[in-house]
Amino acid sequence: MTQHVAIIGAGIGGLAAALALLRRGIDVDVYEQATDLKEVGAGIQTTPNGSRVLLELGLGDELQRHATFSKGKDTYLWNTGQKRPFMPLGEQSVDSYGAPYVTFHRADLHGMLLRAVLQAKPGAVHLGRQLDALSQDGHGVRMRFVDGTEATAPLMVGADGIHSRVRQILLGPDKPEFTGCMAWRGLIPAEAIQGAIDLVGGSMWLGPTAHIVTYPVRQGKLLNFIGMVDQDNWLIESWNAAGTTEECLADFAGWHPHVQLMVRNITIPYKWALMVRAPLERWTEGRITLLGDACHSTLPFLSQGANMALEDGLILARCLQAYGDDPGHALRNYESLRRPRTANITRSSAEQVRRVHNPELADPAGAQRYIEREWGQQQVEERYRWIYGYDARTVELESAA
Ligand SMILES: Cc1cc2nc3c(=O)[nH]c(=O)nc-3n(C[C@H](O)[C@H](O)[C@H](O)COP(=O)(O)OP(=O)(O)OC[C@H]3O[C@@H](n4cnc5c(N)ncnc54)[C@H](O)[C@@H]3O)c2cc1C
Repeated sequence: MTQHVAIIGAGIGGLAAALALLRRGIDVDVYEQATDLKEVGAGIQTTPNGSRVLLELGLGDELQRHATFSKGKDTYLWNTGQKRPFMPLGEQSVDSYGAPYVTFHRADLHGMLLRAVLQAKPGAVHLGRQLDALSQDGHGVRMRFVDGTEATAPLMVGADGIHSRVRQILLGPDKPEFTGCMAWRGLIPAEAIQGAIDLVGGSMWLGPTAHIVTYPVRQGKLLNFIGMVDQDNWLIESWNAAGTTEECLADFAGWHPHVQLMVRNITIPYKWALMVRAPLERWTEGRITLLGDACHSTLPFLSQGANMALEDGLILARCLQAYGDDPGHALRNYESLRRPRTANITRSSAEQVRRVHNPELADPAGAQRYIEREWGQQQVEERYRWIYGYDARTVELESAA
């Protein structure tokens, strides 16, 4: 059986894979470019398919401690603020799917995965190790880092995120296409908006050329804000490119006063160009495979980036446990299980933009028709069931990849 796996990237997917492998008695070393893992990012949603993986990894108590359990989600019309429920959460999510729909500050989700990995293997995560080059032969993979150090392992997983160096080395340069849409992201302190804005539920504000998603994190102490806008003058895809409050306000001019209030109170509004990548036809070569955003980055419209990475980590570990005597087969098997689902999700997420930015929303009669047609609780439940119902713990592992 495979005894040792090297993972490039200590993000959500890399750490989930590390933990799933360690739990199965397979040794791991994780190489991360950051020199310290400080608090970065904003909100992240863990839908039942992702929470199920966290529970399987033994993180149920940590989830209870760090996650925020919303009561449900409502749509709001961009100009009138008219509200209507579209997704009950809380107990109903557990009843329907056997796992909760929760929200996290990314740093809290990341922190709980990191602590669990270090508890299972102290010293598993090597910081300041930015992968530069790699090579493989019939026995293993040799990795060279920017600091001049090297490491070897029988197998290697590239979990190095959206701008993956491993993907670049295996498959050549990336060709993302700009969607014509950018996102504002940020956190709002609860005390600045208390009384006016719902801090126990999630919201989706729908408009003709933009929409906003909000949800509480840190038990309602912060509200996460993502505002997606049709516009073509911002082309940088980055988690830490800051914009200004004035620019963000200009993008939501004419929207309801509660939207203006939220925007004015975002601590730092970050800008992110929404890029789309065609699903990869393959992402495994010999003893190397990819995982998470490195092989299936997605637009945020279905909130599945972290959830797919969590699913990947567990399925990869299950394949290596089941077919560890033939690691090449195990990796191909993992890829063949994950490719169709992740391609469906990334495609569906790209199609969702037409559902959330819709010209019918410009006038009140059109808006009413549109909300009833697209955002009734039953339509939403039918649209999302295949995503939330997926169970990475039990999905059948095919033996012929
Ligand atoms: C700093 C940061 C902040 C984020 N904030 C949010 C957020 O607020 N909301 C949200 O929904 N998503 C956020 N994400 C993205 C989200 O975590 C991912 O979309 C999703 O969880 C998939 O996880 P992943 O493990 O594939 O990628 P990521 O979680 O992005 O992890 C990739 C990891 O690989 C490391 N890495 C990259 N290149 C190399 C290299 N050459 N050598 C070694 N290590 C490397 C990165 O530093 C990172 O730690 C953020 C990602 C990052 C890196």
